Parts: sequence; structure tokens; C-alpha cells
Amino acid sequence: MAKNIYTLPACSEHGGGQMSEQTVEQTETATFFRRMREQNQGLTFDDVTLQTGYSEVLPHSVDLATRVTRNIKLNMPLISAAMDTVTEHQMAIGMAMHGGIGVIHKNLTPDEQVGEVQRVKRFLNRKINHPTTVRDDRTVESLLREKEEKGWNFDTFPVVDAEDRLVGIFTKRDLRFVENHSLPISEVMTADIVTAPRTTGINQAYELMRENKVSVLPLVDNEGHLTALYLIGDVMRHREKRSEYTLDKNGQLMVAAAIGAGTQGIDRAVQLIESEVDLLVLESAHADTQSMLETLRALKRDCPSVDVLVGNISNPRSVSRLIDAGADGIKVGQGPGSICTTRVVTGTGAPQLTATYWCAEQSDMPVCTDGGIKYSGHIVKALAAGAETVMLGSLLAGTDASPGDMVTIKGIPHKLYRGMGSLGAMKAGRGAAERYGQESVPPEKRTPEGVEGAVPYKGTLPGVVDVLLGGIRSGMGAIGAASIAELHRRASFLRETAAGGREAHPHDIVIVTEPPNYTR
Ligand code: 5GP
Repeated sequence: MAKNIYTLPACSEHGGGQMSEQTVEQTETATFFRRMREQNQGLTFDDVTLQTGYSEVLPHSVDLATRVTRNIKLNMPLISAAMDTVTEHQMAIGMAMHGGIGVIHKNLTPDEQVGEVQRVKRFLNRKINHPTTVRDDRTVESLLREKEEKGWNFDTFPVVDAEDRLVGIFTKRDLRFVENHSLPISEVMTADIVTAPRTTGINQAYELMRENKVSVLPLVDNEGHLTALYLIGDVMRHREKRSEYTLDKNGQLMVAAAIGAGTQGIDRAVQLIESEVDLLVLESAHADTQSMLETLRALKRDCPSVDVLVGNISNPRSVSRLIDAGADGIKVGQGPGSICTTRVVTGTGAPQLTATYWCAEQSDMPVCTDGGIKYSGHIVKALAAGAETVMLGSLLAGTDASPGDMVTIKGIPHKLYRGMGSLGAMKAGRGAAERYGQESVPPEKRTPEGVEGAVPYKGTLPGVVDVLLGGIRSGMGAIGAASIAELHRRASFLRETAAGGREAHPHDIVIVTEPPNYTR
């Protein structure tokens, strides 16, 4: 994004980095926010509206491609929040399949978090290169015991003999018909199997599986040793609409994971990188601190190949310090979240739209607006103010892809959703307490900065995401912006009054049928 860099006088005074004396191509947005700054006014989404303009852009032709960090591109600007009621593998898979990305939360042990990352990375396995095999003379019972002990979540085992040659396959279907678990696998496996040469490509594999109506295709070398395995689920997913997916260079879904400051954060990062995580999100309620900056520097020195999105901040003077320490993207948001009480409890933070604009304006570094998004219109405003992505918690917590528990409130299904700074989240894991600097405070003395609640159940993730993207496309079409970069240039904000806000929402009516994208 070519940003309109407007010099913040105090920036250089505070030793805030190399951002001084930069000139501007003033857009209407820059002028608008400068006036607000002169009046010391911080605004949030409902304080403004965006003016429409002449447009040749049809909503369906809008290009939503964007960057989350310097090196990671997405096909759409939505990121699911690193919260224990929002993002585990299911949400991360769904977000990446929509062209966004999910951030696996850190209220898990490092091993558990790595497990979640691996489930995302393996989801689109084109070919399983080192499948777990089982010897033909083992009993069914001993295989089931090992499966349980090792937590294997797959049910297809190629069977090999003492010379390690493939002799059959043992699957869930075979297991279903076994009455005596002390039998050797060789007696209950499917021995009559279709195999293919080791060089078989995925399209060829699909044709073979279709012709022979098999759901497993082992690849073997000339001596009959197993080299790899295709499974029909993976092959079919590979053939689906992959152009939308957020993929790494190996064709696997991309996934991000949250880490905290200090040596524990770095150790966690090293484990995550070994599990092929694509993006680290270095998180704290306040990122412009000595320990966060030191952690960031150490990370970028020891693990330079992985991009780091760092947050949260809301003061533009923090931007240059994060950039100097090696940030690849900046996350903005101190106190706007739906479950958040930081601004009330600590008296600090900033309204989210102003924070986004001032932080985005400081540099070319991609900015993610994190928290406070309630409607798709808020996303358009965040992007117009200079963000390149938005992070969502409450809007996604009600979908079937979130890990939150279902509850019924007044007969209406809801999913539990809680702040990571809530007492419940801090009690559930160290990662949440760490985010709020409370990990060494005894539980009874902790000061929460979040609440525990529930959001209405909204159905499937694709249903929710598609409706959000539709709103973003319509907003950009009405502004005449064919891309997010163009939205940054063309946006023109108007200050909204309280009466304007009332007019914007449905009024003088009782809503009988709630649409999927609107609740008051
Ligand atoms: P939402 O989309 O629900 O408005 O906000 C989600 C964002 O709120 C998260 O991505 C995170 O940055 C922030 N957040 C999550 N839990 C808490 C909390 O307990 N306290 C505060 N201050 N912020 C939180």
C-alpha cells in the first residue's frame, strides 16, 4: 500500500525511529484524520460513514487479495482471532480454504498447539509420504492400543510383511467386521488391493481410484515396498476450488500460531516452526514493551525465515519501534474487542478506527485491525482507514468451526465466547494469563481485562464468511474501489452524528426475521 505518510511531530522527539519529515500525497482520508487529530478526537467505526462515488466496479469483480505480513499474501482480508473459543484446527482450515488465515491460540501446551498446526498442514495432504505402517503378524488388539496411546487420528494402515513389502491394507471398514481382536492383522486385512508405481501423479491417482472404486491407493517400488499413499478424501479436496485457498509452496493450507514474549515464547516458536507453521503472531495486550521488543529481535535473529505479525498497539509512535525490532506486520487494537474490558479497567487504549489509521499511515508495513468489528461495514471502514487485514473474534465464534461449547439461552442456541483476559481463560491456560502479564499472579489476585459470555449460534463458517465478503464487496463497489489498495486511495470518510447512526440502523420497526448479517 502506498500510504500517505503524515509526520507526527512527537514521533522523532521520542526517538521513535526513522519516520520523520516524510511527505504526503494527501488523500481525503488523510485530511479527515488530520483534522480529527488537531481536535484530539479518536473515532471508531460507528462514528463515521464512507461516501459513495462514481463506480465502474461490480461487487463480484472486486479483488480482495491482500497481505497479512510483508511476505504472506491472502486472497481475502479476514483472519480468525488467536482465542481459545475461536481458533483451533477446524477454524484455521476453514479460514485458509476461504483465502484467509487462522491463528491457533496459545492457551494450549506447546505440544497441543503443534498438534493443531499439524492437523491444518496435513489437511490437504496430496500424498502421504511416510505413512504409518503395521506388521501383518501383529494382533488387531495391539494396533488399537498403540493407536490410542499415540493419539493417531487416522484409520488407514498399510500392512507390511517381515521384509517390509506391502501385503494389504487395514482400514476402519475392516475393523468394523472383526469380532475377535486377538486375530493377526494378516487375517482381517484387505489383501486384494490396487497399487500404482511410485511416480504416479495426483490426477493419475484420481483416475485409478475412480476406475477401481477404491479409496486408498498405495504407491510401491519395483520390489513391492511401500513408498507413499493417496487417500480419496485428500485427492478430492485437491481437485476442489483450490484457487481461493491460502496455500504454502508445497500446496498445503497455511496456518498461523500465537506465541508470547520471553524464552518460553521463543521455545514455543521453535517447536511451531519445526511443525511448519507459516506465520507467528507475537501477542501481548501491549506490544510496545522492552520484553516484547527483545523477544521480537531474538526471533528475527534466530528464525529469520518465518514472518512475525506483532501486536497489539494503538499508538502510532509504537510502530517504528516494532519495525526496527523486525516486525513483518503490525496488529492494532487496544480495548475495542467485544469481550474486552481493558479500556474500562486500565483507562488506556484508543478507539479502533483512529488507531488503525494512524498506525497504518506510519509506514508501508501491513496493518491488521484486531477487534471491535461487528458488521461487514466495519471491515470496509477498517480497510479504508489503511488496514490490509482484519482479525475477527465474536463474528466467527458463533460458527460450527469454533471450539466454543454450545449452550442454550432462553431457548436459543449459543456458543460460549470469552476474552483471553477473562478469569476463565486465564485459569484454563498459561497462554491467556501471559497475554495480560498475569502469569505469575496467584489466580485469586488476577485482574481480568475481559469477560466470559456467549454469542448466538450462526451455523457454518462458509455461510458466515461468504455473507461478510459479500458486504465488503458491495461497499467497495459503491466506492468504486476494485482492490483494497484502491479503497485506501478513494475512501472519503464523513463524521456521523448520533442521529445519523440511528438512521443507519433499522428503525421504527420490529424485526421479525433477523438477517444473517445483522443483530443490533
Ligand atoms: P472481537 O472481534 O470479538 O471484537 O475482538 C477480538 C479481539 O479482542 C481478539 O483478537 C483480541 O485481540 C482481543 N481480545 C481477546 N480477548 C480479550 C480480552 O480478554 N481482553 C482484551 N482487552 N482484549 C481481548
